[in-house]
Amino acid sequence: MPELPEVETIREDLKKRILHKKIQTLEVLDKHAGAMETVKAISGNSIQDIERYCKLLVFVLEKQDNFLLIHLKMTGQLIYQMKSCVVAGGHVQSEKDIQNLPNSYTRDVFHFADGTKLFFNDVRRFGYIKLVNKVEKEKVVAKYGIDPLDTKFNQEKLISLAENKSGNIKTLLMNQKEIAGIGNIYADEICFCAGVRPNRRVKTLNADKYEKIVSCAKKILKLAIKHRGTSFSDYRDCEGRKGNYVKYLKVYGRAKEKCLACGTQLKSLRVAGRGTVFCPHDQK
Ligand SMILES: [Zn+2]
Repeated sequence: MPELPEVETIREDLKKRILHKKIQTLEVLDKHAGAMETVKAISGNSIQDIERYCKLLVFVLEKQDNFLLIHLKMTGQLIYQMKSCVVAGGHVQSEKDIQNLPNSYTRDVFHFADGTKLFFNDVRRFGYIKLVNKVEKEKVVAKYGIDPLDTKFNQEKLISLAENKSGNIKTLLMNQKEIAGIGNIYADEICFCAGVRPNRRVKTLNADKYEKIVSCAKKILKLAIKHRGTSFSDYRDCEGRKGNYVKYLKVYGRAKEKCLACGTQLKSLRVAGRGTVFCPHDQK
């Protein structure tokens, strides 16, 4: 599932390519409620800006009070195609995903006036594209927790989120209603960076640890964005780039391997219902 860095990478890529391009039409292959209305609003329109709220992308349309919410959820992909060259983001597992578009998982296709296309594919169909007005957009956005890269996400804020909670730190980091955008990969990496066991009860953490967790969250997410997120596939876009953060992962996916910091064998356990890896020596 794409986490915050992967969604931010798509946003940056698409901003460079599709802003201000006229959309000729939106082709809806998987008809859903409101599809015709969406097509009508989008045709002849253009995208003025792309915003991100945690893992939700918002296309700000030129026509006033028109916003397109795009959520990739578990398996959504956005693939921009210009001639033989494609730029893809989201849940891209293999080169096959992006060949011969549209494929059987393509739900919508944006046709731009210059002949380029943007495909929205989604195998499990949990993702969505939805046309809303400003009031509706704000209602959706308000339901999300704080973005960990927001300056308002600080030690004080994290302490307040942990207040009255009996659970562990990993569960809190992954609770999208409190902090939005951190999933299994980055939660493990943040806990390692902060020297905190993922299953440590939040009640037992002191102010210094909270400070450390906040600074680690920001550091790791920023570095992951810089390296275009974590991609486990060999997919490269038309500029030869792939999500490179996998090289920088210290614990995620490394159970039973040696800790890169101290050489101790990394352990795994289940926390928040997810496979979790930590160093028993460095994380207390
Ligand atoms: Zn270690």
